Amino acid sequence: NPQNLLSANIASIFRNSLSEIPVKLATIPPFLILVAPRHTRSQRSYRYIIPDRQIILDNDIVQLVCVKCEKTNHGQDQPHDFYSCDACYWKESQSLSIATTDAKVLCYCGTCLTKLHKDLAHEITNHDTKKIDMNRHKLNLFAVLCIETSHYVAFVKFKQQNQRHEWMFFDSMSDRIHNEKNIPLVDRVPDFDRWIDDAEQDKYFFQDLDRIRSQARPSSQKFDENAMRQLRLFRDGIVFFYENSC
Ligand SMILES: [Zn+2]
Ligand SMILES: [Zn+2]
Ligand SMILES: [Zn+2]
Repeated sequence: NPQNLLSANIASIFRNSLSEIPVKLATIPPFLILVAPRHTRSQRSYRYIIPDRQIILDNDIVQLVCVKCEKTNHGQDQPHDFYSCDACYWKESQSLSIATTDAKVLCYCGTCLTKLHKDLAHEITNHDTKKIDMNRHKLNLFAVLCIETSHYVAFVKFKQQNQRHEWMFFDSMSDRIHNEKNIPLVDRVPDFDRWIDDAEQDKYFFQDLDRIRSQARPSSQKFDENAMRQLRLFRDGIVFFYENSC
């Protein structure tokens, strides 16, 4: 956190860490698990982290490799546009050296595709070429694990029918009986989406949280329940779970 920011989006942290190394994902992941960075064992690099509800797997995150010449989309001098052509791929797949898996983006650079298509004559009508559009691939947030010392809580997305979803809050030790038995709690969080919107748009959102935080320990009963859960989400969020939606 070189600029000493009060908050950051987990997707930006992820993107920055990829470009710092620099490295890209070799495949389109079915799941992605991001961990909040810390600069010491106990200290987070950012006081608050906003979990993005969606991460678009664009060219900056996922590596494209031409299956023919093995050029990639790394760096400025490399080809920028990549294409898919199923007909060419089927014809050639036996002779290609790259090991392919389903999750890999099978594509050709413009130069190789032009070469492949040059001598095709009328057969070219069977070749359906598409420019690779990386913005189609998206990862959606489905859970956030939050830890305050040894107190774990989680926000989990439940899918409902007709594409809707609902966020739930899970607390394994929400209360205690006679200081010996933990009572777990599962509760709806109908405002989860609005909290994220507010955190992203409201300049004073985290200053307000800071004020709440300075007033009492978040586990204390003095807290407004929603403010407590917001603190848990943005301050204690440590593992962010994403799944591929398509
Ligand atoms: Zn190529
Ligand atoms: Zn082709
Ligand atoms: Zn939502």
